[in-house]
Amino acid sequence: MAIRLFDSLSRELRELKPAHADGVYRFYNCGPTVYAPAHLGNFRTFVVNDVVRRLLELEFGPAKVKHVRNLTDVDDRTIGQTQKEKRPLAEITKRWTDMFQADCEALNCLRPHVEPTATGHIREQVDMIDVLLRKGNAYRAPDGSVYFKISSFPEYGALSRIKERELKVTNSVFDADHKDDVGDFALWKAHKPEEDGDVKWPGPDGAAAGRPGWHIECSAMSKKHLGDTVDLHTGGVDLLVPHHENEIAQSQCCNGTAFSHHWYHSEHLLVDGTTMSKSKGNYYTLGDLVAKGYSPMAVRYALLMGHPRKQLNFTLDSLHAAESALKSLRTLRTSLPAGGGSFDVGAPVVAALADDLNTPGALGALFTVINSTRPAEINTAQFDRAMFALGFDLSLQVQLSAPTEIVALAAKRWAAKQAKDFATADALRKDLSAAGWSMLDSKTDYKLEPLKK
Ligand code: AMP
Ligand code: ZN
Repeated sequence: MAIRLFDSLSRELRELKPAHADGVYRFYNCGPTVYAPAHLGNFRTFVVNDVVRRLLELEFGPAKVKHVRNLTDVDDRTIGQTQKEKRPLAEITKRWTDMFQADCEALNCLRPHVEPTATGHIREQVDMIDVLLRKGNAYRAPDGSVYFKISSFPEYGALSRIKERELKVTNSVFDADHKDDVGDFALWKAHKPEEDGDVKWPGPDGAAAGRPGWHIECSAMSKKHLGDTVDLHTGGVDLLVPHHENEIAQSQCCNGTAFSHHWYHSEHLLVDGTTMSKSKGNYYTLGDLVAKGYSPMAVRYALLMGHPRKQLNFTLDSLHAAESALKSLRTLRTSLPAGGGSFDVGAPVVAALADDLNTPGALGALFTVINSTRPAEINTAQFDRAMFALGFDLSLQVQLSAPTEIVALAAKRWAAKQAKDFATADALRKDLSAAGWSMLDSKTDYKLEPLKK
C-alpha cells in the first residue's frame, strides 16, 4: 500500500515516504495550547492525526515511526490566563495538560513518542534565536525583544502563497511596536511585568530577559527530537499562516536545509456554521458529551464521519448515528469466529484511508462489506486491522455512562422541552426514571445521572 496525502506546499497528493537512511518516518504534529480545555474541534485535528500515525505504523512498522506532538505551555494566551486567574503558569498548564492527555486516551489516540513542552525547551529556543541573530535573519528591538526579518528570507509565504499586503496584516496582530517592518514577527518578547508577572527567562545574546514568541518553539522542538528535516508536519488549517510560514522561515534560515518534506492541514469542526473555538466559547468538550451519556468512542467515530479536508458541522444527531454504528461493530466482532473466513474487510478500509485520508469512504466501505457478507466469511484479523486503522477500540463499551436508548430518550426530552412541548417532555422524564435515569436540567444544558437505588 502507498499512503497518499494532500501536501499543502506543492498542492498535490503525494506519497508519504521516509527520507532518512534509517527508514524512520519523522512526524511532527503541532499540539494544543494548554490554557483552557481542548474542545471537540481540537480533537478533530488530533483524531485525524492519530489516523495518520496508525497508517504510518501499518505501512512502515511501529518501530519505524517517530511521532512528536508539542504542548504550548507559554505564550500570550497561557500568560493571559495566569493574569486572569492570578495563579502560577505551571499550575494552569498542568491542569489542562492532564485533562488533554486523559481525553486523548479516552478517544483511543496513540500517545506520541515525545510530548515536549515549550517551557522545557527554552535553552533550545534561545540557541536557535542566537543563530538567527548571528546570520542576520533576526534583529534586536530597542526594548530587548527579538524579531525575525522577513525580508531576509525571500521564500517567505510559499506555503500559503500569501501576498505581501495580507502578510503584513497577519503578522501585525503580534506587537506592532519596535519592528523594522510590520510583517516581521517576534522570536523573543522582552519581559513586561504588568502583563507577564514572573514568567521570564534569560534571553538570547544581547536581548532582554523575557519569553519566546510562540512560533519558535515548534522549530526548536522539532529540531531537537526529529532533526533538521522532518518527513511530515501537520496541524489544523488555521496554523498554515502565519504559524507554519514562520516555522519554515526560522528553521530553514537556522539550519540551511528543508524543514519538512510534506505539509498536511485538516479543516475545522464547525458548530452552527461557525468554527468551534476557545475564544468564541461556542464549544463542546469531551466531558460535556460524556456527561450527556455519549461514549468517547462515538465521539471519535463522529469526528471521522466527514472528510478531514472539508469542514464538518458537529451535531448531536451524528453522535446517535455513531453510537448505533459502533453497536453493530461490537455485535459483529463478538460473532466473528476465531480466524474467521477469507473475506478481507481491512483492505477497502485501509485503501480508502491511504487515499488522502478518506475517512467517510473508509466507514462506508466497512459497512458495505459488513452488510453484504455473512460474519462467518469475514477474516477476523483483517477486521481487527480495519479497527486499528480507524482507532476503534470496541472493548471500550464500559465508558458509555448511559446506554444508547437512554441517551436517545434524553435528547428527545430535551428537544421537546426546547419546543415547549412540556407534556411530551414530562412523559419522557417518566420513561427515563422508569429505566433508572434522571436528567438534571440547567438553562442551556442537561446531564444524565443514574437514579440512586
Ligand atoms: P490550539 O490549542 O488552539 O493551539 O489548537 C490545537 C489544534 O487544534 C491546532 O492544530 C488547531 O489548528 C486545531 N483547531 C483549533 N480549532 C479547531 C476547530 N474548530 N476544528 C478543528 N481543529 C481545530
Ligand atoms: Zn507548531
